[in-house]
Amino acid sequence: MIEVLKIYKSFGGKAVLSGISLEVNKGEVVAVIGPSGSGKSTLLRCINLLEKIDRGTIAVENEIMVSTNANGRAEYADKKKLRDIRLKLGLVFQNFNLFPHFNVLKNITEAPVSVAGTRKQEALETALQLLEKMGLEDKAEAYPFELSGGQSQRVAIARALALNPDVLFFDEPTSALDPELTLEVMKVIRKLAEEHMTMVVVTHEMGFAREVADRVIFMDNGVIVEQGTPEELFTNPKNERTKMFIKGFN
Ligand code: ATP
Ligand code: MG
Repeated sequence: MIEVLKIYKSFGGKAVLSGISLEVNKGEVVAVIGPSGSGKSTLLRCINLLEKIDRGTIAVENEIMVSTNANGRAEYADKKKLRDIRLKLGLVFQNFNLFPHFNVLKNITEAPVSVAGTRKQEALETALQLLEKMGLEDKAEAYPFELSGGQSQRVAIARALALNPDVLFFDEPTSALDPELTLEVMKVIRKLAEEHMTMVVVTHEMGFAREVADRVIFMDNGVIVEQGTPEELFTNPKNERTKMFIKGFN
């Protein structure tokens, strides 16, 4: 579903991604863990077209988003194709990023109506269904400032799902939340996993990664150091750096 091949990215001469390759298969839940500054957010941002890579290949459902040209530079597909690819990818951030001046319903229906061209009535119906799924049917008319962090994050998830993405990416979706609110957001992500939603979750919740992910990727210093099933990675890590990192959480 997603193929990333040897991507490189630097900021001002500092290498942040140094030859990352990874595949995400349909229905798979992949957790990405690693120390602060290891490049996890940058990886998600590059796949989601919020940053451009310097070199490498990224393809979504066999559609090439970017690949390296003869000059060794990243060459992106044309605007229309990128827009189509972008619509297949949903992204949920740490800090929710809801539109503060729109109510919950409008936050959810805005992109489907104005970007994807969905009819307003249809977008509204989908939004209401998603709110029900998130346990937020009574918040349809509320504004973001009236919501708790956990509720805001669930609205952000509903908003991402409203575009019916093929893959949903989460960048530390619970790190701004206290433990109780973390649980309610985790519950929603777990439910999506049970429905076989394809997801890539950057998280420092090791318990969650262990329980929900099919595969765990450990990143350090711009590379994937090790990956495997939660069992392999958490109980029997092979690499010294992985061992040290996981030990830090026990
Ligand atoms: P954390 O766990 O703290 O969120 P991370 O693994 O997500 O860390 P990134 O945010 O991807 O790490 O950052 C990787 C490196 O790239 C860091 O050294 C960071 O300072 C640098 N970096 C990220 N974005 C930019 C940017 N827009 N401009 C310059 N440097 C950046
Ligand atoms: Mg980050």
